[in-house]
Parts: sequence; structure tokens; C-alpha cells
Amino acid sequence: MNINEFYPVFLQSKNVVIDSRKIEKGSLFFAFSGESYNAAEKAKEAIENGALAVIIEDEKYSDPENNIFYVSSTLEFLQNLAIFHRDQLTIPFIGLTGSNGKTTTKELISNVLAEKFKVQYTFGNLNNHIGVPLTLLSIREEHEIAVIEMGANHQKEIESLCKIAKPNIGYITNFGKAHLEGFGGFEGVIKGKSELYNYLKENQQKILVNHNDKIQVEKTEDYHDKITFGTPDSDYNFEPVFKDHFVGVDYNGTDIFSNLTGKYNYDNISAAVALGLHFGLDIFEIKNAIENYFPSNMRSQIQKKDNITLVLDTYNANPSSMQVSLENFKTFEGSKLIIIGDMLELGDESLKEHQNILDFAKSCGFDEIITVGPNFKKVNQTGNAFENTSELIEVLKANPIKKDNILLKASRGIALEKIIDYI
Ligand code: ATP
Ligand code: MG
Repeated sequence: MNINEFYPVFLQSKNVVIDSRKIEKGSLFFAFSGESYNAAEKAKEAIENGALAVIIEDEKYSDPENNIFYVSSTLEFLQNLAIFHRDQLTIPFIGLTGSNGKTTTKELISNVLAEKFKVQYTFGNLNNHIGVPLTLLSIREEHEIAVIEMGANHQKEIESLCKIAKPNIGYITNFGKAHLEGFGGFEGVIKGKSELYNYLKENQQKILVNHNDKIQVEKTEDYHDKITFGTPDSDYNFEPVFKDHFVGVDYNGTDIFSNLTGKYNYDNISAAVALGLHFGLDIFEIKNAIENYFPSNMRSQIQKKDNITLVLDTYNANPSSMQVSLENFKTFEGSKLIIIGDMLELGDESLKEHQNILDFAKSCGFDEIITVGPNFKKVNQTGNAFENTSELIEVLKANPIKKDNILLKASRGIALEKIIDYI
């Protein structure tokens, strides 16, 4: 089916969904099939449930009179529709990638810009080849700025997401040791993430550069159209400030504190403040937005439980984010326990990286170290090495923890947050 012809149908739709349970009256439903499941079988039911139209990739169920449209690939059609829609939009698009801090930075930027504009931004962590098109298709007439998170775990992924989202301003939060397996080591990470820079340079769009990050400076040296921050010679100079466990920035004598822990969030906040200033917000609007953003997404989040200060950082982990998280936790006052879980997707480097982190943790002087997961178990010879979260929960039931501060950090697959109820 032709995108041009179909576009008016999309414009009439209330939203675009890929999960049949989320269909509402007026939804446009893209039926994605699984290996053992043909989503096209649900097309008729979807229309009965209120869907405006359904896209299927099984010709047998094609029924254009009832708005069930056959295409050769649901995914390709979703992406092409998103590209077509993107090309109709003239609002600024901000594109983000990087190893760590994309979602946090996306939330901060979006909250800042929302003080003045109607912003549409990536919902949750929907940052891949399906999530980016879905985000694009959620941008409608009323929106004035879009903020798009782009994730990747191998080469060429950012390049293809850029071709869909076509960012006008791009930012790489950082280059870290994450998804080493798919990218082929740290050099591979730099190359893969830099596909965003390549796109921006080729299409003469703006690059947001953290001047405190050597690799960012180096990779954008040859380019003129930049917004820079972080050092006295930048467009916007910030200094980090700290209050209790929280980090913030000082801009020309105005302190802006966040509700995020960890010095690494200084970069994330700085990027958001810089973009706020770039888009003409005054510093008090920006301050208001940052101070009223409370993470509730298990990223750099602080939670008090009785007398215990919990640092919840269980959304994900890799050697870079683990390292900065431990460094931050080291500065907490009182007794300290760390519960750290496996860092996944590290390929050949896995054992070495787990050993490094464990060694680093030991050097930090924490009162107790607990590890969860088979990778840490290989390097942690103490009785405090657990195979999985359930095993640890059984022990916690019998021996409640008595510490002033507890850090929880692990990759998503470990689901370490399950233990919160047993602390
Ligand atoms: P994902 O790849 O899962 O989408 P992400 O890049 O969106 O991750 P966030 O979800 O914002 O990253 O943050 C995940 C964790 O990374 C945080 O909880 C924190 O521990 C760490 N982190 C956040 N920002 C930075 C940063 N600028 N530098 C290093 N680590 C960071
Ligand atoms: Mg994310």
C-alpha cells in the first residue's frame, strides 16, 4: 500500500499501537507477528474493539473495505510512515544517544522545554527501530518540539534511526563501556554512537557538545555548528553543586539542584539547562523544571525506607555506570552496603569487567558487598555471592539488613528491585 494514500488515515487516528490490548476507539493498530503467532488473526477483533485501521502482513486477512490493510512488512511500513510524517513536520527535533544517561537526559530536557513549549518526547525507554517510529507518530499538530531517545547495541543502528528521526540538534550523552559485545569493544562504541555526529554534519544540523568530555570535543572539532557547554570557553559555563545526596549546576551564580544523585548527573542536567537557554527560556523557568523533576524510574533515585537511605539504580548497569555509581555511593555518610548484580552483554570482556568492578568496590571501603548473578559469582569467592535475586530474597527474609545506606545496582535482567520489599 502506498504511504501517500494511507497518510490521511493516520492523521485521523487517535494514536498508534502495536499491542492489541492497548487499542482504543480511533487507534491505528500495527499487527506485528511473533514466531508462533499470527497477529493478523486479531485484525477483525481490533476493528470491533474500536481500531480505526489495522496494518497486517498476511494477505489472507486483507479487508480494505473494513480498514484492514495488507503490507509486505509491518515494520517497514511503520518506519516509512514515520519517515513520511517526520518530513511533514517543521518543529525542531532533538535526537539523543550515548552509552549512559539517555533517558535521564531526555526527561530533563523535555521537562525544561515544557516550561515554554508543548513538547513530545520518547515515552519511557522506547528508543529502538520500533520505538522511534512510534514516538514520531505520536507527534501531532499541537506539538512544538520533539525530543527523541535513540538506543543502539550495534553498528549502523544510530545511522538508521537518524534517517527516520532526522534530528536538527543532536547530543551524545557519553561514550562508555556498554553493549561491548554488539559494538565490538570500546572503539566500536565510539564509532557506533558517532553515527549521530556523521548524520548531523552531513545534513548541516547542530551538535550539542559537552566540553568536559574529551571524546566529544575531539569528534566535533572539525565542525562549526555547535552549542557547547561545561567550560569557561563554552557557550554556557556551569559548575557542579551538591546538596545532601543531590547534584545540581551553578549557572552565573544561580544554583539549580536536581532530585538526582550522582555527580554523573551533572552532565545530564547541564545538557538540559544548555538547551533550555538555547531555546530562550529564562534561568528561573529552567530552575523550576529541574527542581520539580523527580525520578520514579529506578535511575539515580533516592528512597528512604525507615532509617535506611536506598539508592535505586536497578534499571540497568554496565562497567561505566557501575563505576560512577559506586564512586557516588562512597561519599554517603554512615554505614554502607552495596548490592550489585551482573552487568550483561559484555561478551569476551565480561569476566574481566566483573573482576574489575569487584576490585574497585573492595577498594571503596564499603561495610559490606553482596553480589547477585552468575558472572559476579565467578569472581566473588565470599559467602555473599548469590546466583539470583530470589536466592538473596530468601536470605534477607531470615536476616534483615541493618545499614544506614544501601546501593542497588544491576542490569535489567537481574531485576534487583524485587528485593526492595525485603529490606
Ligand atoms: P538505556 O541504554 O537502558 O536506554 P540510558 O542511556 O537511557 O540507558 P538512563 O536510563 O538514563 O540511561 O540511566 C541508566 C543509568 O546510567 C543510571 O541509573 C545511572 O546509573 C547511569 N548514568 C546516567 N547518566 C550517566 C552519565 N552521564 N554517565 C555515566 N553514567 C550515567
Ligand atoms: Mg534509556
